[in-house]
Amino acid sequence: MKLNLNIQPLSSWMKVSSEPLIISGPCSAETEEQLLATAHLVKNTGKVSVLRAGIWKPRTRPGEFEGIGSIGLQWLKRAKEETGLPTAVEVATAKHVEEALAAGVDILWIGARSTVNPFTVQEIADALQGADVPVMVKNPINPDLALWIGALERINRAGITKLAAIHRGFSSFEKSAYRNEPMWDLAIHLKTLAPELPILNDPSHICGTRDLIPYISQQALDLDMQGLMIESHIDPSVAWTDAKQQVTPAALTEIVNNLTIRKADS
Ligand code: PEP
Ligand code: MN
Repeated sequence: MKLNLNIQPLSSWMKVSSEPLIISGPCSAETEEQLLATAHLVKNTGKVSVLRAGIWKPRTRPGEFEGIGSIGLQWLKRAKEETGLPTAVEVATAKHVEEALAAGVDILWIGARSTVNPFTVQEIADALQGADVPVMVKNPINPDLALWIGALERINRAGITKLAAIHRGFSSFEKSAYRNEPMWDLAIHLKTLAPELPILNDPSHICGTRDLIPYISQQALDLDMQGLMIESHIDPSVAWTDAKQQVTPAALTEIVNNLTIRKADS
């Protein structure tokens, strides 16, 4: 089985300022000051090509911080104006897509809790019709390759050709060192089915704790994944979401500097 996706190579729509491609920024935009301060530090690392920030947060249980909402789009706009970094946000509804596009967000991503639901993915796909925006699709939370593929196909059929997958690991009942099991074989399988599809890795959500991030990042690069999405925060210890896995921009620089890029022999 081949996927027959109609997609453009990553290099045609992603300007990589420094190899490997790094997307970074806070798990959540919390305040304008936090987002702008993080954006400037991330930019100053010289390693980051895209600023990420969640503004609508899919929390597993109610009663926790559910994202700052639409006002965060204005903060992202300002962060882009001040740093020149393109921006990326998670979208989970048609309204998110419309608002993000209207606010000039450069890249959209679909989160793991949305990829599991074909109705949600189709709603997002319908809202994307006619848009020329890159979309990255995270794997579903459960280890179901068909759901991941189905989501990629739905977005592609909506006319989105600037498409990438993000491998962020899978939840499992087994006790594990990881927050989400990498189950690398699923990402490898996807690559064999769609060799032209760029696959990025999200070590932050795989690891759940920052200490493991260098190790998973290196494994991802060794498997020829085309980039890393790593959450960063000016002060991870006080982050409103995913505090244990976020790194400071200084730590991010160190992680990236210590990665080995093994280019295949040509
Ligand atoms: C995130 O990127 O902050 C996020 C919620 O990720 P995931 O969908 O992978 O859980
Ligand atoms: Mn997060």
